[in-house]
Amino acid sequence: MGLSPAKLSRIAGAILDWFPDHARDMPWRRTLDPYGVWISEIMLQQTQVKTVIPYWNRWMRRLPDAAKLARAREATVLKLWEGLGYYSRARNAQKAAQMIVTEHGGRFPRSRELIESLPGIGRYTAGAIASIAYDEPAPILDGNVIRVLTRLGMIPGDPKGKEVNATLWELAGQLVEGVADGRGVRPAPPLKFAGACSALNQGLMELGATVCLPAKPACLLCPLREHCAAAQAGRAEDFPSKAKKPVITPRHFCTYVLRVGDVYLVSQRGEDEVNAGFWEFPNRETDSAEADPREVIEHLLPGLTVELRPLRVIRHSITRYRMTQRVFFGELKRRPRNTGMRWCRLDEIRGLPFVSAQRRLFKDLEAAGS
Ligand code: SF4
Repeated sequence: MGLSPAKLSRIAGAILDWFPDHARDMPWRRTLDPYGVWISEIMLQQTQVKTVIPYWNRWMRRLPDAAKLARAREATVLKLWEGLGYYSRARNAQKAAQMIVTEHGGRFPRSRELIESLPGIGRYTAGAIASIAYDEPAPILDGNVIRVLTRLGMIPGDPKGKEVNATLWELAGQLVEGVADGRGVRPAPPLKFAGACSALNQGLMELGATVCLPAKPACLLCPLREHCAAAQAGRAEDFPSKAKKPVITPRHFCTYVLRVGDVYLVSQRGEDEVNAGFWEFPNRETDSAEADPREVIEHLLPGLTVELRPLRVIRHSITRYRMTQRVFFGELKRRPRNTGMRWCRLDEIRGLPFVSAQRRLFKDLEAAGS
């Protein structure tokens, strides 16, 4: 079953009828400032709306425009991002802000093409900013839109695969182009829409996020149900086709919390590492979950003699990796020399951009009376 231009036009009309009354209030929907829209879009990648709201509010209070972000210290930017993960996004945002200042006179670029030329901004984000802030008929395709479109047209195949993906971009483009220069759409104040393209794209994402859910979509409440092939066939949950699950790889680490008096040893991650610039308690990857922590510490701090006791085990995931950190505590009498690391009090450590998996140790250390 296809999605003809006439059908797409009816679908777009139904979304524009539905969205103004169903748009959730989010702080970035109260502005048409492309900078604010951009920051919300990069924060929302892989993170839920309710988590992002306080981050966005804090960021916008501290770095309200591209000029302030361009000038900010990297530690400030990372601190404001701390906990959202994927820190290269925050770094790229700062690089993009610097480019906005040097190459665009501090004004956010006006077209989708120019927006997409900024570091860290891909086709989706450029389309989102251009349509939401400027009402440009630029398509967007994220997980929510993919779900709605593949169900509407019962489109089989891997939506990330080249051909299916190209078809979906094409459909998203036809939908938004179909409403350009069209009707006015007004949300309930204090929300703002730049126009019909802005409302169409946001409405499509909203429908995927709140009605056309991955499991048990609320088809009975959906404004598109009479146009939806998958709902009519009773097969909504069969779309989009499931991609093969990646193979999960376990990884093991020994982590050391070493204290002298009231200061702890911390190290900064190198330029080429994941979470570059972030601080952490010294650690080392091991071949197995049973590696002897006294042998492992030799590689980090050769010749150090310290009695180690287990503090806790931290488990977390990054993409397809399942990480297990066995954390050990050691009390030293004096600071070893030439570690290339830093000694800090716990209150100082709290002020550093610190890897989030290890932040949960702070409470343990406070409870232990640091
Ligand atoms: Fe999704 Fe159901 Fe609406 Fe189709 S009718 S778009 S499956 S919620």
